[in-house]
Amino acid sequence: MLDVLRKIVQEVSSARDLNTALSIIVRRVRKAMNTDVCSVYLLDSKQGRYVLMNTLGLNTAAIGHASLAPSEGLVGYVGQREEPLNLDDAPSHSRYRYLPETGEERYHSFLGVPIIHQRHALGVLVVQQKVKRKFDEGEEAFLVTIAAQLAAVLAHAQASGSLRISPAGQREMAFFTGLPAAPGVTIGQAVVIMPPADLDSVPVRDCASIPEEKEFFRAALKAVRDDIRSVGQKLANRVSAQEQALFDAYLQMLDEESLGAEVFRKIEDGHWAQGALAYVVKRHVKYLEKVEDSYLRERAADIRDMGRRVLSYLQAGGEIIREYPDNTLLVGEELSPALLGEVPKEKLAGLISVKGSSNSHLAILARAMGIPTVMGLTDLPYAQLDGQQLILDGYRGQVVTNPDDKLRRQYELFIEEEKALTEALEAEAGLPCITQDGHQLPLMLNTGLAADHARALAYGAEGVGLYRTEVQFMMAERFPSEQEQVALYHQQLSAFAPREVTMRTLDIGGDKPLPYFPIIEDNPCLGWRGIRFSLDHPEVFLSQVRAMLRASIGLNNLRILLPMISSVREVEEARALIRRAWVEIKQGEGLAVKKPKVGAMIEVPAALFQIPALAERVDYLSVGSNDLTQYLLAVDRDNPKVAGLYSGYHPAVLQALTKIARDSHAARLPVSICGELAGDPAGAILLLGMGYQSLSMNLASLPRVKAAIRRVKVSEARELLEKVLGCASTDQVVGHLGVFMNDLGLGWLAGPKTQSPN
Ligand code: PEP
Ligand code: MG
Repeated sequence: MLDVLRKIVQEVSSARDLNTALSIIVRRVRKAMNTDVCSVYLLDSKQGRYVLMNTLGLNTAAIGHASLAPSEGLVGYVGQREEPLNLDDAPSHSRYRYLPETGEERYHSFLGVPIIHQRHALGVLVVQQKVKRKFDEGEEAFLVTIAAQLAAVLAHAQASGSLRISPAGQREMAFFTGLPAAPGVTIGQAVVIMPPADLDSVPVRDCASIPEEKEFFRAALKAVRDDIRSVGQKLANRVSAQEQALFDAYLQMLDEESLGAEVFRKIEDGHWAQGALAYVVKRHVKYLEKVEDSYLRERAADIRDMGRRVLSYLQAGGEIIREYPDNTLLVGEELSPALLGEVPKEKLAGLISVKGSSNSHLAILARAMGIPTVMGLTDLPYAQLDGQQLILDGYRGQVVTNPDDKLRRQYELFIEEEKALTEALEAEAGLPCITQDGHQLPLMLNTGLAADHARALAYGAEGVGLYRTEVQFMMAERFPSEQEQVALYHQQLSAFAPREVTMRTLDIGGDKPLPYFPIIEDNPCLGWRGIRFSLDHPEVFLSQVRAMLRASIGLNNLRILLPMISSVREVEEARALIRRAWVEIKQGEGLAVKKPKVGAMIEVPAALFQIPALAERVDYLSVGSNDLTQYLLAVDRDNPKVAGLYSGYHPAVLQALTKIARDSHAARLPVSICGELAGDPAGAILLLGMGYQSLSMNLASLPRVKAAIRRVKVSEARELLEKVLGCASTDQVVGHLGVFMNDLGLGWLAGPKTQSPN
């Protein structure tokens, strides 16, 4: 049975459209269960009725017509109760309703199971037989399993538009949820970017002259190289040197020594240039797509993009020059970073990509350039969107197609409010971060990619509370050399000197893979990450620490932070290595390097109970509330399926944060926090109440948090904390925070009030 089941699901998943999928289901299930009838009813949300969408056994003329309300018939009953119904004599059931157009009066036994996706009934799968018999437990379990597996496939088809129960061609407002990749809300016109050339449809052909074909390919390579270079130049003053390096990486792919060389060899075997190129590119892409590491998989997209560009020159000889409308929203299956430079800056309003994640090059660049972006919209029918007005919500990772006037007005209001909010906050951003009763709470900056130093200092950032060094490692092609690291770290340290800069040692693994050092694990977040990797690779760790120490010479504002600490032993071993690096530089080389303060991150729940022991071994603590929330609640911070369960306002998280602050104070150990909660105005007030000595956050959050802190008294923050610590649920906490913020006139700080209706 398992085999049959697997085959059905496989076939359904690869069906080209919903109708084919449904006919596979009814055919295969009827055969596997040896029944007279198998039918699928799907809920048409507009009509609020279950419509017969496919059947084998009932009258096919009824398909698309026969329907039942949830309060009608056995199908409605199954959907309503969201439970299977197994009857040996259906017509004698009180809810039985005979639909003459289906001809089902001949059938007695009935087994219906609901098709449920994310708690919502999408439809009902039914098998029927003439004979009076109850289906056995095994049959019922089989149908339930099939329905559960099909739910996801059907939900995808429904969302992507291949399912149309309502009249075709009717454009309806639809919401698509992907991954938030760069914040901001925007309304604009979709410009769909189709692949310039299709690598899959290049025919196999021999070439007439090998030297001519090679020359032809060389010219196409040069043309693409020129395009990429000019795009890179157009972006030169909008992105940092490191981001610019992404374009160099692109150019390298085209080198005659790398991918290009393979194409030349293929041409020498007698293939024409287009065929040789398509063969080589597809081979690389196929290999990379199989790799488990998500970062490497995304490089497949870059290679395919390059291949298409070269192919377009080989085929037509030239790039298509487009006219971009105002508020262009670029939409595509795999948008490439190179596209960013092709749209004039003043016209580009947002990016929407079906593939990719917040790790993609595109997302990294979009964030750095402040372009609202949503990625990973797997259900989006992107090919049908060209020229349509869309709403892009980069905070929620949502795209709305065909928004109605009401929603559009709401979002316009949202955008206006956001603008006004930014202006109001900018006005007081330079003022000190001091409470109404005179308590100073230093606000620090989280950095990683090119930080806007000047703006951070104008906002009164009192230093860097978290410099995520792994970001530079993730963007490189190999481990950066010690000298390269010295240059990067010196840039950070000198930009903020004399303010302190807290540099976290490499925190790779988990959701932060290195392209050149894949770590494949079943449970990466519980695996080889952070300090565990560093201690197992002392050569990488020592080189990083030496680079930090060298970069700090003469500036003396370095603090080192150790990620993912779960035992004192890790701290002792790391400190021994840090000391060794320091001695090498100080005594070995005679350089005037100051000993940095060393701190531990509290982000693994075990560390919560080790604060007195840690206090004897570190100079300060910094709480990573992002990971702490993930580990305390056992909710993967990157898994959209459980995203609704992840909250820094969960009472258990708040209790844990309070304990950390209390135990640190008792041990006289300075404690700060650098997770996202610190950048949330209401969260920041709670952390003030808990007694955190500084908060570290992204640049964009700084003015918002400062405005909140400047409007409260410490006593009020403590009272609020007292209240929420007594709460049993996240909802209750959120309720209290909302009332508090509104009572203090701080509701506006939570962002524009307008919400998308879901
Ligand atoms: C955290 O876990 O809260 C944190 C600041 O580190 P990261 O988000 O980089 O894991
Ligand atoms: Mg962390």
